Amino acid sequence: MSDLSMNDIKFLPGVGPKRAELLNKELGIYSYEDLLYYIPYKYIDRSHTYTIREVTGTMPYIQLRGKIMRYETQGEGRKRRLTALFADDTGTIELVWFKGIKYIEERYQPGREYTLFGRPVLFGNRLNIAHPEIDAVDTEIDGYSGLQPYYTTTEKMRSHFLNSKAIQKIISTLWKIVPRKLPETLPAAVIARAQVIYLGEALYNIHFPPSPDLLRKAQFRLKFEELFYLQLNILRYTRQRRRALDGFPFTVIGEYFNRFYRECLPFELTGAQKRVLKEIRTDVGSGRQMNRLLQGDVGSGKTLVALMAMLMAVDNGYQACLMAPTEILATQHYETLSEMLRPLGVRIELLTGSTRRKEREGIHAGLLSGEVKILIGTHALLEDTVNFANLGFVVIDEQHRFGVEQRSRLWRKNGRPPHVLVMTATPIPRTLAMTLYGDLDVSVIDELPPGRKPVTTIHRYDNQRGELYAAIRRQIEQGRQIYIVYPLIQESEKIDLKNLEEGFRQIREVFPEYVVCMVHGKMKPAEKEAEMQRFVSGEAHIMVATTVIEVGVNVPNATVMVIENAERFGLSQLHQLRGRVGRGADQSYCVLVTSHKLTEDTRKRIEIMTQTNDGFEISEADLQLRGPGDMEGTQQSGIAFDLRVANIAKDGQILQLARDIAGEVLDADPDLTTPDNYVLSRRLEKLFRRKIDFSRIS
Ligand code: ADP
Ligand code: MG
Repeated sequence: MSDLSMNDIKFLPGVGPKRAELLNKELGIYSYEDLLYYIPYKYIDRSHTYTIREVTGTMPYIQLRGKIMRYETQGEGRKRRLTALFADDTGTIELVWFKGIKYIEERYQPGREYTLFGRPVLFGNRLNIAHPEIDAVDTEIDGYSGLQPYYTTTEKMRSHFLNSKAIQKIISTLWKIVPRKLPETLPAAVIARAQVIYLGEALYNIHFPPSPDLLRKAQFRLKFEELFYLQLNILRYTRQRRRALDGFPFTVIGEYFNRFYRECLPFELTGAQKRVLKEIRTDVGSGRQMNRLLQGDVGSGKTLVALMAMLMAVDNGYQACLMAPTEILATQHYETLSEMLRPLGVRIELLTGSTRRKEREGIHAGLLSGEVKILIGTHALLEDTVNFANLGFVVIDEQHRFGVEQRSRLWRKNGRPPHVLVMTATPIPRTLAMTLYGDLDVSVIDELPPGRKPVTTIHRYDNQRGELYAAIRRQIEQGRQIYIVYPLIQESEKIDLKNLEEGFRQIREVFPEYVVCMVHGKMKPAEKEAEMQRFVSGEAHIMVATTVIEVGVNVPNATVMVIENAERFGLSQLHQLRGRVGRGADQSYCVLVTSHKLTEDTRKRIEIMTQTNDGFEISEADLQLRGPGDMEGTQQSGIAFDLRVANIAKDGQILQLARDIAGEVLDADPDLTTPDNYVLSRRLEKLFRRKIDFSRIS
């Protein structure tokens, strides 16, 4: 009984094979331990049962106990509703249902005693409760009067009578056979330092909280523990790697860097750019390998920072490379950077999938001899045929297109791992970055170069197109270019593509005098590149596209971004798309086009977009609206992310505390070998190992 993860849920009284299978399949609950950690998603105060006489029309949710007297159906078709009289010793109140009428009538029988839960409303001069929650009176559970837990269940479970209350009952049975005093999963010193309650107490109170205060303490303990182990795991891994991996020491700031700074830089660096360069300089000078995530909103000048960091490498006798997610981006980087480097005479090359064989061979040779100092490219850089004389610094642009695995392939190019700078314009809130990229240090450029005009964002309904087209025409007449973006979401690709093509046709009809190009992800790469190029070169006035243009394309002359069906985009995607304009000196606009039917969430998203240009603010809001699981980049981060109790968006302070304490523990005992910390190493091993497969054991 000491290891509850070894007890199959099937053998718990009241469960059995059928229910066990449901719990396995629907909730991933296999063991006693899994069940204890199945945390309610909400609680409702049921400590008080009202009498019907006491009820008024101004109460919140209340609990009543009594009997259903009789049912009555009224109205026809869509107006059909079911009413019933509910009575206790003090009076009656009306119940109303507009849906599930047949089910209700069959399920709840007149004459039986039920507890009922709902919000009374005054309708005319009569009180009623619409769609109340009804439970059979269960003496065992209802004898417990306090905060009632609610557990998430699935449709399938409910159709087999495995609802929230049934789960509560199973858990109550479990607590009768396991001791309240469960083995501790945290060392005494950590418990004292974090001021948390004991595990057994927390796990009991999370299911049967005697008071709101004890519930809070239970939640705190479990959240802390979850985040603590997450951080302990990340920090231990990071530290081990740091000890193991020496980096190339860049000891000097040399001629290239200094000449570039003095002679080539057409503007003053922003304060944020200077700060980040100092952070990088400290890292690469330390003798340890740098792994740094550089976050900065679109247009904040990350590329320039990357270039100057690459020059540090060149000054120290190393080569550097920059990897971009698409050919267009790589080419753009190559063009800007080689232009800026021209006065220095540093050899820089471009390598992509479409580099000609002869040229490619020349580049390969130049890389091996060390003559090529800086290489810009796409995934093509990862190929085994690409070898360097002395690769010391790697820049990866737009993190979310590269997984951890791809990153590590670069390590192998030079025996020792080069320093790595990952740049991303998808701003990630600090708390999330700490968890996702625990092994990366984070730098932030939180300042835009001076003189930028913020993009003006407006919301238009789709019946206001005439006005919109007139505005577009005025911009084109002034020599500007326009993006029009349509959503392309995988599930309905065919329909979406039709929308896009339809849009393309329509735009060409409305603007017969202008050149319109079209780009989408289903095109052959070469065809796509060619269409993009027509826009980049200025030949096309309007580009109709899907979100393929989200990342990185730089056309400073484009001043209008129209986003069709804006309700179908997430916040960070909208922000990324908007970042494609506002890159030149002219005032730019982003127009969000939606239908009139908007959900509450969509309204909020649109409102945030029209109110702020600050990527971090948007990212925070996004995290609040969607939760971290949906954040872009999380899937590829390589870190398991199913938190059971804690919420990265809301529990930032606990996360910070957990990280601090995990750091302290590792400072004192890096390998977790002292007897006190034995519990930590054992638990880490268990948590980050796969679940036990009971079907194979029994
Ligand atoms: P990011 O990669 O962060 O989106 P870029 O590095 O492409 O941003 O910079 C956007 C534009 O701003 C470029 O044209 C660049 O030359 C310019 N820029 C960068 N830093 C500064 C600065 N400190 N002052 C003025 N312009 C700058
Ligand atoms: Mg960029």
